[in-house]
Amino acid sequence: MAKPKVATASLAGCFGCHMSLLDIDERILQLIELVDFDKSPIDDLKEFTGRCTVGLIEGGCCNEENVRVLRDFREHCDILVSVGECAICGGIPAMRNTMPLRECLEEAYLKGPTVHNPSGKITNDPEIPLLLNKVYPAHEVVKVDYFLQGCPPLADAIWAALTALLTKQPLNLPYALVKYD
Ligand code: SF4
Repeated sequence: MAKPKVATASLAGCFGCHMSLLDIDERILQLIELVDFDKSPIDDLKEFTGRCTVGLIEGGCCNEENVRVLRDFREHCDILVSVGECAICGGIPAMRNTMPLRECLEEAYLKGPTVHNPSGKITNDPEIPLLLNKVYPAHEVVKVDYFLQGCPPLADAIWAALTALLTKQPLNLPYALVKYD
């Protein structure tokens, strides 16, 4: 029987949540028995090859490319999970939401203390995805089914959630896996 597929993406994130997934250590061997990875930085597959049971999303949406990828995940995944604070509430990238985008661009390209930009222009290279007016959490762009808190969520929490979802068990994570104090 074909194994269920899992896909993962890092949008406006730092890859720390992916590192936490890999922190399941030797259980990665069990995971490979349980699932096939589809589109993911883990196997470097750039496009979906078919329908996925679970999609794990790290990071929120800061640019148009993030939105395109997130919508693609919603379309291809039965269950979509926001993994970590950046996906759930925007995280550190969302600190720019407190000021106008224009000010951020001027600081980055023109006025910042370490900027050297003799052209005096803010880049508009079409190769660079267009920045959104602010950083959006994943659930403000598409429907998200589950949220795994933490920065990053513990490897044990990701493992427990993933195995529950893949085996159609209720997602009741013990308090020890979701408390942060
Ligand atoms: S939640 Fe934390 S670990 Fe995950 S992508 Fe954001 S900053 Fe990185």
